Amino acid sequence: MKARYTQLLKNKTRELGFEYCGISKAEFLEEEAPRLEQWLHEGRHGSMGWMENHFDKRLDPRLLVDGAKSVVSLLLNYYPEKELENSEYKISKYAYGKDYHTVIKDKLKELIFFLQQEIGGINGRAFVDSAPVMDKVWAKKGGLGWVGKNTNLINRDTGSFFFIAELILDVELEYDGPIKDYCGTCTRCLDACPTDALQTPYVIDASKCISYLTIELKENIPEEFKGKMDNWVFGCDICQDVCPWNSFSKKHQHQEFTPKGELVTMSNKDWEEMTEEAFGPLFKDSAIKRTKFKGISRNITFLKNT
Ligand code: SF4
Ligand code: SF4
Repeated sequence: MKARYTQLLKNKTRELGFEYCGISKAEFLEEEAPRLEQWLHEGRHGSMGWMENHFDKRLDPRLLVDGAKSVVSLLLNYYPEKELENSEYKISKYAYGKDYHTVIKDKLKELIFFLQQEIGGINGRAFVDSAPVMDKVWAKKGGLGWVGKNTNLINRDTGSFFFIAELILDVELEYDGPIKDYCGTCTRCLDACPTDALQTPYVIDASKCISYLTIELKENIPEEFKGKMDNWVFGCDICQDVCPWNSFSKKHQHQEFTPKGELVTMSNKDWEEMTEEAFGPLFKDSAIKRTKFKGISRNITFLKNT
């Protein structure tokens, strides 16, 4: 049964467009517990207080789904055919197209529905970039890659430009083993980070990361980051762009992640003169709406005054 269910599940994930699927046993993350505690204790999560919540649940999927047996990790490629280059202002590649939360949630709903039809009586929950689940750790346990010194999950065949999603299921499946770390002696990501958010390999100081500063931070960007933001207005890809494993990235095949024409042609002037009225329709289906107009204009003002 286990083998049949695993095959059914993996075939369906491929049909839904996920490039990779790895399965691990739902159990307490013993190795991660002290690391997470230390990271939070050192305040490396900045003002993201919500990261302190659900501490126990983040370490044990059985507290999220009754009788959980398996964690299914899924990767969806978002590496674009071409970078946006009409403007000096940069946005992270993951935000070029439609909001990944929406795209992936629809796929996961379909997947759970399919499993309920085929297996019957199963209980499960789906997560996309959601606080209670340590997505990279599970994907690593499921053999989809290793967590590199830049703290991203890296797949040996296609790099790190992937969204990660999970299903926690109360069904026993065949588990995939972890793979080894292939960072070796490389330090490119640590050397390239302009804000020193990666001072220690494998540990990110999120409170210094441009992604946090441009998206999560609600107050003003601290003066100490002047001249270090490298023109990023939403997110930052530097530590992924310099990673040698990303020379193996393959263009995604997901129409939803193709940028709108208006975004492709945006110039510096368009970004700088954008009004709230223009921001709304342009980013209504995009992950960029998370910062709201206020966030984007704060970021642009900060960059202009640098
Ligand atoms: S995303 Fe940018 S700022 Fe954040 S750690 Fe990577 S290089 Fe540094
Ligand atoms: S840039 Fe080098 S050290 Fe950093 S994640 Fe990639 S392989 Fe690892």
